[in-house]
Amino acid sequence: MTQTVDTHSEKSARPGMPHVELTGFEVLSEEERALQKGLHKFAREVMRPAGIAIDKLTAEESVAEGSPYWEFMMTAASSGISFDETDDSVPPEVLARVQAVAVEELGWGDAGLAVSLGVGAFPAMLAQRAGSQELVDLCQGKLGCWIGTQPDRGSDGLMLYPQERHASAAQGNKGNLTARVQGDDIVINGQSSAWVSNGPVAQVGLLTIAADYGDGFFDAEGHPHGVEVIVPLDLPGVSRGKPLEKLGKRALPQGEVFFDNVKVPVRFALSREAGYWSGHASTWSSAGVAMGQVMTGLARASLEHAVEYVHERRQGGALLADHQLVQYRLGNMARKVETIRAVARRATDYTFLSPSKHPYFTAGGKVTCTDLAFEVADEAVQLFGGYGLAKEYPVEKLFRDARAARIEDGENHLLSMKFGYLTSLLHRNGTTRH
Ligand SMILES: Cc1cc2nc3c(=O)[nH]c(=O)nc-3n(C[C@H](O)[C@H](O)[C@H](O)COP(=O)(O)OP(=O)(O)OC[C@H]3O[C@@H](n4cnc5c(N)ncnc54)[C@H](O)[C@@H]3O)c2cc1C
Repeated sequence: MTQTVDTHSEKSARPGMPHVELTGFEVLSEEERALQKGLHKFAREVMRPAGIAIDKLTAEESVAEGSPYWEFMMTAASSGISFDETDDSVPPEVLARVQAVAVEELGWGDAGLAVSLGVGAFPAMLAQRAGSQELVDLCQGKLGCWIGTQPDRGSDGLMLYPQERHASAAQGNKGNLTARVQGDDIVINGQSSAWVSNGPVAQVGLLTIAADYGDGFFDAEGHPHGVEVIVPLDLPGVSRGKPLEKLGKRALPQGEVFFDNVKVPVRFALSREAGYWSGHASTWSSAGVAMGQVMTGLARASLEHAVEYVHERRQGGALLADHQLVQYRLGNMARKVETIRAVARRATDYTFLSPSKHPYFTAGGKVTCTDLAFEVADEAVQLFGGYGLAKEYPVEKLFRDARAARIEDGENHLLSMKFGYLTSLLHRNGTTRH
């Protein structure tokens, strides 16, 4: 008589597969899963092919009439894809989670297009938050951009406190694009940097610039006054530079915007005078969290490509996936993706729920998310070996897109320095001394 082995009970004695969502080791609600599924389909079928197609074009071709960029934007608009965080009927903790889940899918599809959609909705979103129906109507349905950096004012525009200036600098930097507040008007002159996302295509801009309210550009401490103002970009005096050619995020159009005596009413300002720096801080906090969410999607996409490849490629007499060193490397990548997601979610929750959010905290989160996403994309290239560098394979583009994010929305060393500055500030004023 042959002895039968109860393979079933032997198998069931081993741990089964854990529950995972598209977004890893967590449990989503039915609603969240449905939203994720819909956006994932959009990201896979519309966004990713569009991003790959645009990546191959010149910057000018990518924004020409009828380009894949415009096709994508039209499909997104008709599919109702938007970045609306201002629905008062939904509790903020629910909105925070929904936004993080949704934007991760868009970042998975294409990080450049995700940023284009996000920044495209930024002026409308902030007008809504400011409670100005006139500005909401002005921005609604229009593609937006955020104009902060200028040829001579990059990281300097992110200095919230005068004490952050170098000891030898008597004054801050007002830059090359400034506003003068004259009576009921704001008059804008100068130019942005070439890095304005959506600069070549935007119909409305949120400008975050130095301002003179009649007393000069600087306060007694040498810190610039400022204004955050919404400007329709079809006004007389507005012109554009050429779309910028760049290494990564090529699906995100970027370029200079010029202003020659452009006039808007003072009521188009979202924050000004004494309210400017806290207004700017709040605006910047929102932008910082979106970067983390987008990069979670990019890092996940890099990991997925790498896992797929190591299950196809054989070297050393076995699939790459069967070598323990490769499993170790996949484990490190997966750990980083989980970390990026956790940090992005934490920054999102804090920004939605805190009574006084702070961009130096979200900046710290942005550094963690973008640096780790870059490491994950880099390791994906490495696992592909020589093919990792080839244009026909997907990870080369992800690597370039990840690289851009370490400078976008603030250069990462500078942002770490700012998080350190905030950490000291909290100690000095006693908040973190127990
Ligand atoms: C993909 C992408 C999208 C972008 N989108 C936008 C946008 O929508 N709108 C917009 O306005 N801008 C945008 N930018 C611009 C971006 O915000 C700036 O590039 C960034 O803030 C850095 O400024 P900078 O390039 O002028 O570099 P700089 O400020 O000149 O910095 C150059 C180097 O000097 C170092 N450095 C600077 N200051 C100091 C200091 N005080 N102490 C020590 N070291 C210092 C930095 O760490 C950095 O390594 C975008 C950039 C990219 C890459």
